[in-house]
Amino acid sequence: MGRRKISIFGSTGSIGCNTVKLLLQQGGSSNYSVQVLTGGKNVKVLADQAIKLKAKTAVTAHDEKLNELRFYLKDSEINVAAGKKALIDSSHIKSDWTMSAIIGAAGIEVGLNSAKHGGVLALANKETLVCAGNLLKEIALKSRTIIIPVDSEHSAIFQCLRGEKEDSIESITLTASGGPFRDWPLEKLNYVEPREAAKHPNWSMGKKISIDSASMFNKGLEVIEASSLFALPKEKINVLIHPQSIVHGFISFKDGSSIAQMSSPDMLTAIGFSLNYPNRPHIKVDRINLSKVHNLNFEEVDFNRWPALRLAYKVIDLKSTAATVYNAAKEEASEAFIEGKIGFLDMFTCVDYVVDYLNKKNYFTTNNFGLSEIIETDSLSRKITRKHIAKSHF
Ligand code: NAD
Ligand code: MG
Repeated sequence: MGRRKISIFGSTGSIGCNTVKLLLQQGGSSNYSVQVLTGGKNVKVLADQAIKLKAKTAVTAHDEKLNELRFYLKDSEINVAAGKKALIDSSHIKSDWTMSAIIGAAGIEVGLNSAKHGGVLALANKETLVCAGNLLKEIALKSRTIIIPVDSEHSAIFQCLRGEKEDSIESITLTASGGPFRDWPLEKLNYVEPREAAKHPNWSMGKKISIDSASMFNKGLEVIEASSLFALPKEKINVLIHPQSIVHGFISFKDGSSIAQMSSPDMLTAIGFSLNYPNRPHIKVDRINLSKVHNLNFEEVDFNRWPALRLAYKVIDLKSTAATVYNAAKEEASEAFIEGKIGFLDMFTCVDYVVDYLNKKNYFTTNNFGLSEIIETDSLSRKITRKHIAKSHF
């Protein structure tokens, strides 16, 4: 057997860089034949990764960055490309293992294409499951692709489910750290600064997902993601606040037993699990020492503090493209928060408004939708959100 063919979409981000680090730890180009690496504006990082891993192709999503990427790779034989079309085209290049780690709805099409290759799709881009779960699972089934989630909670459930039957699940529980504002007085929350929201107490992650964690929009997406991936109704998906971020998720089985997965809060564990599946070779991450941790605490979620999570459960019931609306409106609102146009709590108000607006227009009637309807809904939701932000006095 030759070297395993690998591609990483979004290799310059937080998950992407950790994936590159792990590939290098596990032998780099002697063990892996890296087909495609993609990134955004940070083409220097992309070029360095491509050289280190001896990648065949490096793609930046930005046309205007082509020359700079070419410059950094001029002494190599690495193919260089730029722009959205080049990015999508590169996701048709066959790999045995693909890491899908572009952030947001921008990663959906790449995820769907990567599911056609067979092998393993390591799915960090939760938006693919949130917005296009049925489509993704259908493609994966047809192509015999194994989808392994690279979200710590879903990786935990996936790990706890090994050797078990899905119909023996009574419920699953995803944990949430509670983020930086778990104990803040509610009235202070709308005065939160973007830099405070981007500071996660336990995990080191990209800026956008850190803000989504603070508002619990991330956990909202994760509940939808779990419902889609594990085909569970919303009643069987629980969330518990667990400030230590050591237990990432657990399954409660019908016979009264529960199985949980624990590890230190480091995404290398979930990335490594997906890369080495079904094996578990040594990985350099902190070990948990329960005698030093002393306490593992769990608390109920306060939906008044985190209405974004309550809305996610409603979105599951609305079905159709409601999850795409939730995500797209959230992406726009979060951008507006980062730009200082709206406050922290206004992000929820905006998303709630857009979901409600389209629901009242009976927008969520069909469950028979494909990528074009998802793209259309995404763009419509962004337009409505922007208009709402412009005309409201937040
Ligand atoms: P990030 O912002 O650090 O990196 C995102 C990557 O996508 C970068 O390579 C960036 O260049 C690229 N990118 C951004 N916008 C793009 C666009 N429009 N077109 C093409 N490429 C684009 O993000 P991240 O924190 O690594 O998260 C990646 C995905 O993994 C997200 O879906 C996130 O929800 C999920 N995830 C992340 C973590 C974490 O610890 N960071 C944990 C669980 C799940
Ligand atoms: Mg997560």
